[in-house]
Amino acid sequence: MSKPALNVCQQCGACCAAFRVTFHYSELDSEPGGCVPAGLADQETATLYRLRGTDYANPRCAALTGKVGESVSCAIYKERPSPCREFGARAGIGVFEEACNRARSRHGLPPLPLD
Ligand code: SF4
Ligand code: SF4
Repeated sequence: MSKPALNVCQQCGACCAAFRVTFHYSELDSEPGGCVPAGLADQETATLYRLRGTDYANPRCAALTGKVGESVSCAIYKERPSPCREFGARAGIGVFEEACNRARSRHGLPPLPLD
């Protein structure tokens, strides 16, 4: 990630407090090869789990620290599940998505420039 773009995410975090984050149970650290802390996940179906807090009326992932729109970090960054790795995957190189701006608008944050 380039430094300027990384800073955008570190000063945003809106996607971690806007959308449900669901992933396959095989990503849990309780499973062979998994890494996502099971203690931060709730079971959704027989095969799917979600990050705690992301399905609340006012969603906010339990692993998100800091204040959205100011300064945030992910407490399980290296162990985050695949949807987190895939969402805004190019934000680090300054390429943002409509979904970024949908999340940001939920928090009253201005849109980022799109391609
Ligand atoms: S909404 Fe986009 S810019 Fe904001 S933290 Fe998520 S990926 Fe980064
Ligand atoms: S695990 Fe980290 S990157 Fe994923 S939603 Fe939670 S705070 Fe955001």
